[in-house]
Amino acid sequence: MSDDVDYYRIDELLAEEERMTAASVRNFVEREALPVIEGAHSREEFPRQLIPRMGELGLFGAHLKGYGCAGLSAVAYGLICQELEAGDSGLRSMASVQGSLAMYSIWRWGSEEQKRRWLPEMATGRLIGCFGLTEPDHGSDPGGMETRARRDGSHWILNGTKRWITNGSIADVSTVWAKDGETIRGFLVERGTPGFSAHDIKGKFSLRASITSELVLEDVRVPASSMLPEAQGLAGPFSCLNQARYGIVWGAIGAARTCYLTALRYAQARTQFGKPLASFQLVQAKLVHMISEITKAQLVAWRLGRLKDAGQVRPEQVSLAKRNNVGQALDIARLARDVLGASGIVNEYPVIRHMLNLETVNTYEGTYDMHTLIIGRDITGLDAIR
Ligand SMILES: Cc1cc2nc3c(=O)[nH]c(=O)nc-3n(C[C@H](O)[C@H](O)[C@H](O)COP(=O)(O)OP(=O)(O)OC[C@H]3O[C@@H](n4cnc5c(N)ncnc54)[C@H](O)[C@@H]3O)c2cc1C
Repeated sequence: MSDDVDYYRIDELLAEEERMTAASVRNFVEREALPVIEGAHSREEFPRQLIPRMGELGLFGAHLKGYGCAGLSAVAYGLICQELEAGDSGLRSMASVQGSLAMYSIWRWGSEEQKRRWLPEMATGRLIGCFGLTEPDHGSDPGGMETRARRDGSHWILNGTKRWITNGSIADVSTVWAKDGETIRGFLVERGTPGFSAHDIKGKFSLRASITSELVLEDVRVPASSMLPEAQGLAGPFSCLNQARYGIVWGAIGAARTCYLTALRYAQARTQFGKPLASFQLVQAKLVHMISEITKAQLVAWRLGRLKDAGQVRPEQVSLAKRNNVGQALDIARLARDVLGASGIVNEYPVIRHMLNLETVNTYEGTYDMHTLIIGRDITGLDAIR
């Protein structure tokens, strides 16, 4: 009998620092996040008291170098995401959006002045960032965005609406992508700038312990120095999404792990027809499917991380891993929910919360099907997206 989720001893492939990072985040999640996550989920809010602790632990922009960031390996950063998402996808989303979208956009495309101004405070969690790319009418096809930037002397004027923006209403700074003519550029918009407002989207059944907002920009006037000088075209936002997707590849394994372990323990403890559920062949087949897919996902994530550390990863490889790991995690969560029977639908167990969260994770940062088409284009040389 084994309740080991590291079936192929992937732990042995990790550096000591990576193991220690994973252990400290797991400890944080178990002691500080799990006790408050169900409450936050039911109130539809992010547990904001965790933000300074996440900053102290170096979880924001952990893979970035300089400017107060931890500068960890890609694998260590992945393990952080895995441990956070074992608690809730909302915790990992907070770290992903802060570090891989908002901070990365400044780190990769910003001026030296922008980096010094924002990154150290964002690394501590004292300042929060968000990333506004998606619009009400432009999701999978962000190139069609309608948000406009118009130069006006030493300023830019921004107009448009961004939707489904994680952390939007609590952000001190929003990276907003807008078109100047046909060129997509990024702008840093500070909270309180006249004409800028953020409204939360309520009524979500998924990712409830995460803030999701709509950003409205009405003649928002920002200084020329707030434009990200190095970003031009979709390469700007896409480079950030690629970072965040990489974290999701690992995060999904954490959610799947929690669902699998919950199902395994439940099946061992619950008796029907005079025997434990775990003794029935059909139940064993479900558990075996779960651990097999988790093991494959772990190997994909580990290899992807090592390629990333070597500077050799291609976006299509990230797409394959995101598509596979999240798709499988969602299947595992649904199977685990089934193994728990009626108990699978209540918050006494974390499974249905993870299952519902994973619906979002399967959709954001490129839907499952969009990644299918990206990989399809890569292997055939034929574009089926448009
Ligand atoms: C909780 C949450 C948080 C989010 N956070 C952020 C954020 O912080 N910042 C941000 O910018 N965005 C964010 N998003 C937005 C997210 O990235 C988009 O929802 C996603 O890109 C999909 O866009 P859409 O919802 O408009 O779906 P659509 O693009 O309308 O797609 C709907 C369906 O059509 C399919 N489809 C679309 N085009 C094709 C095609 N060519 N061929 C075949 N099928 C196709 C899709 O796969 C999908 O199944 C968030 C979303 C959610 C739910």
